[in-house]
Amino acid sequence: MAQILIPKKPDTQTLLETMAEDMRYEIGCSAETLRNTGVESAMQIRAKQTPCTPTKLGLCGHCAFNCAYCACRNGNDRPEYVLEPAELAKIAVEVNNKTNCGVFITSAIYKTPDITQERIAETVRILREELGYTGFCHAKVMPGADPALIAATGKHADRLSVNIEVAKSDSYARIAKQKSKAAILAPMGEISRRIREASCRSAGKEKPAFAVSQTTQLMAGAAGEDDRTILNLSDALYRKYRLKRIYYTPYTYRYPSRGYEDLPLTQTPYWRVARLYQADRLTQLYRFAPEELTPAEAPWLESDIDPKTAWALRHMDLFPVELNTADYDTLLRIPGIGTTYAARIMTARWYAPLSFDTLRQMKVSLKRARYFVTCGGKFLGGELDPIGLRMLFSAPAQMEMG
Ligand code: SF4
Repeated sequence: MAQILIPKKPDTQTLLETMAEDMRYEIGCSAETLRNTGVESAMQIRAKQTPCTPTKLGLCGHCAFNCAYCACRNGNDRPEYVLEPAELAKIAVEVNNKTNCGVFITSAIYKTPDITQERIAETVRILREELGYTGFCHAKVMPGADPALIAATGKHADRLSVNIEVAKSDSYARIAKQKSKAAILAPMGEISRRIREASCRSAGKEKPAFAVSQTTQLMAGAAGEDDRTILNLSDALYRKYRLKRIYYTPYTYRYPSRGYEDLPLTQTPYWRVARLYQADRLTQLYRFAPEELTPAEAPWLESDIDPKTAWALRHMDLFPVELNTADYDTLLRIPGIGTTYAARIMTARWYAPLSFDTLRQMKVSLKRARYFVTCGGKFLGGELDPIGLRMLFSAPAQMEMG
């Protein structure tokens, strides 16, 4: 009698390893991007460090779509798996019991975006309603997903994300042929609208009936775009869709893929992503306008100097700044002074005029800032001009910045 061979279902550990490998390109939080890129400098400008990374868990690892840059794309030779929502929900609870960092429920597209979204919605429903899961849950929204399925997913998730991926809409046809700008912006708009409505209804009194935040992911280098284009788009997305974060990832196309034979192989350098993170935080937390960091005549961020110092060196007429009188926004523009030091300086000035000695006692480091400030009229920056300062501060992207 002929023997029927049934493929052995991988154990949970093997599944988790396969999922992690498949979803390396999918960014769940800023700490993860930085770990993936090995770049530490973007951590220097941030609101709050993510304490730990939610574990990415995928319902399906083999996609019906064929995006050139993705390990899960149709036709790529990868281990295939398709889990049932109940199976993945159970794994999610087990994983969170070990890490306590929350989970990110995602999936490659299984048959269609709506079937996939339904399976994601069912996974988060089982997590909350049947397994009593109370931890953090980030869930993925598919391009073009039906609004009713977005509503069902957001009912149980804390955060939703739909990835915009490219900075220029004509790039979808080049590297992600089944995606389109409309199919991505429509769910983004729907999520934004529902977040606003739910938060108004709850009025801060109870847990909103929908997710509370939305993020997206944008690849640098996918469209031959400059950094000015990326920062302007990011700024518009933050405003229009009230995104919590935009995660940047380097566009990578290292092996020829079926359907993309003419696409040139490329790898966006990690330093570019680090600089984009720094510029992003400067626009969102330090009130810089994108065009200040990447003006029309200099649309690229620089590899060897961080965007805040680069801006200061282009505007030396505004320096030195007197630390006893500058307002908070001006303090934030001084290289080496971040939100913590600026707040410390503002508070200390209530009690007595500052001197360089008191700043040292307050543990305000002036290693970089001393070239841009006076304190009580004194200047400790020496004779360096912008060219000398540029040479002094020139460093690879992974060096520290303030
Ligand atoms: S839609 Fe594209 S990026 Fe997303 S999993 Fe499928 S192939 Fe990858």
